[in-house]
Amino acid sequence: MFMPTVTTPSAITQEILDFCRAIEPAHGPLWLELEPQGWAKPQNAFLNVGFQVSMHGGAVQHGWIIWLAEHTGRPLYAEAEFHAVWAAPNRALIDITPKADGERRVLFLPDSKMSFEGSVVPNRLHDIARTEISRTMVEGNRRIAEVTAALSDKVRNGELPMGVRVPVERIMLETIAAHGVRLGFGRNDLCPCLSGRTYKNCHRRITEPLPR
Ligand SMILES: [Zn+2]
Repeated sequence: MFMPTVTTPSAITQEILDFCRAIEPAHGPLWLELEPQGWAKPQNAFLNVGFQVSMHGGAVQHGWIIWLAEHTGRPLYAEAEFHAVWAAPNRALIDITPKADGERRVLFLPDSKMSFEGSVVPNRLHDIARTEISRTMVEGNRRIAEVTAALSDKVRNGELPMGVRVPVERIMLETIAAHGVRLGFGRNDLCPCLSGRTYKNCHRRITEPLPR
């Protein structure tokens, strides 16, 4: 499957500045070196920073980590992930949460109008390449962000068990399948949703009714 690499951008381009301005015009993005604490868990930034403040003082700074998705060196889209870092007593901003992929620095956009209320805040996405592929990836990731937020609310309300998984791959494959014609899938190709049926007998039929 077509998989872009998603990393910290190597530079703050105009596209990334525009994306940041659309999210929070009062601040600009900052590079933060990571200082992951040994006890801190990836994905638990809000708990991690709350604990750090209770031990060492300072404050929680909410904001967004800006990620860049690229394919063969070309930027496809940017993604903003709601996050919290530690504002140390000397006011330096420090990201104490380890990154699952071992990233050493992040691009962080402070956003003081946001706070964490327990619900997952959906990631924000911004199409950069403006191609059929980047549009499809952005749409798929928006759906993944919506489903992630909805499922986590259900877990919090006790309607679903802890540890329920977001079907990330299925959502992306179905989004790709829904855009199949524009992405160049032929009638007799296998459907990109991996059902094993031909495209004409699967998602083309569901999403783009054949002319009679
Ligand atoms: Zn299909």
